[in-house]
Amino acid sequence: MKIQVSLIPEEGRQIQYRLDGDWYREYLQKGGVLEFRIRPADVAVTIHKVLDAVTLDIRVETSLDLDCGRCLESFLLPVRSGFRYTLVPSRAPEGRKEELSDEDISFGHYQDDLIDLDSLVFEQILLQVPMKPLCVETCRGLCVRCGVNLNTESCACKPGAVDGRLDALKTFKARKQS
Ligand SMILES: [Zn+2]
Ligand SMILES: [Zn+2]
Repeated sequence: MKIQVSLIPEEGRQIQYRLDGDWYREYLQKGGVLEFRIRPADVAVTIHKVLDAVTLDIRVETSLDLDCGRCLESFLLPVRSGFRYTLVPSRAPEGRKEELSDEDISFGHYQDDLIDLDSLVFEQILLQVPMKPLCVETCRGLCVRCGVNLNTESCACKPGAVDGRLDALKTFKARKQS
């Protein structure tokens, strides 16, 4: 969704739309891949313009298919985010965005009378991805020795393994010999 700034009425504008499919592919860096999938995203935007400064209040609701950082199982993370951008026209050839440290308020630039809403939505979704995603806060992860998923199985290994992979290999060899 692209917004033409000169067409924003004085009283502002409201837009609701849904992003589906691989809409975010064009915002990935060249050759970049996203290590998770974004489910369809519902976006609601309120737009106001004062002179040539445009304020956007954006709400996005979606879910992400992530892999748990402990047990490696995939899980669905619901994402609900509200944020505000204030954009002013850029005179520079490269409309690079400058962001302040405050997560909820960002200032940036738009170029050629156009605002690319979807790129702002994508940026916000990325900010919601945890550094280490967990399927549940209490996820017990994998046994470092035998590799079973401790959320669903138990094993006879004693905790405090030094190198899990090596131990698993030793057990395997021992079994083979007997
Ligand atoms: Zn997990
Ligand atoms: Zn084990």
